[in-house]
Amino acid sequence: MAIILVDMDDVIADFEHALIDHLHNKHPRIPVVLYEERSTFYSIENYPEKHKSYVRDVTHAQGFYHSFKPLPGAIKAVKEMAKAGHTIFFCTSPLLTSEHCLQEKRTWIKEHLGQEWLTRLIITSDKTLVQGDILIDDKATITGAAKPVWTQILFTAPYNRQSQAKYRLSHWSNWEKVVEAALKARFKVRSVLDPCTLPFNKN
Ligand SMILES: [Mg+2]
Repeated sequence: MAIILVDMDDVIADFEHALIDHLHNKHPRIPVVLYEERSTFYSIENYPEKHKSYVRDVTHAQGFYHSFKPLPGAIKAVKEMAKAGHTIFFCTSPLLTSEHCLQEKRTWIKEHLGQEWLTRLIITSDKTLVQGDILIDDKATITGAAKPVWTQILFTAPYNRQSQAKYRLSHWSNWEKVVEAALKARFKVRSVLDPCTLPFNKN
């Protein structure tokens, strides 16, 4: 079985629609960028300079990270992956300038999955340092201090549709097929490099 790292924002937790809702409620005069129209990974970059402070205001407010709805099928899929024998860790990067983001990510996992999942939360600004077989993430290019050991499955979002990705997950209902394909390819590479290597990490 494999170690599967799962990003939070816009992979299991709906950052984008929360941003639209909070902006609409708090600053109703600011025209929001619709989800389908998002073209950059960082939401704020899609807003004109004169409106960026409103986006900052909303994303740094207490309760923002806590308010995200789970993405369709995400919670079910995470539990299914664990039930299938995979070891799941959430691997998420925080908004470092937010006073609330870290704690609210923790609360979110506790509320939507339960206390026992808190040991599975890795909050890091460098995902390349985290070990695992698979990383499911919506950021097309992930760089850092190390060469990643994981294979990325790109979680589809409007801003990454143009990206070339070997493995893509467009909806959680399809996780099994995509994860299996990515793991199969890893196993093939490993067995060529070292025939003694076991297929996947043992728990
Ligand atoms: Mg993300």
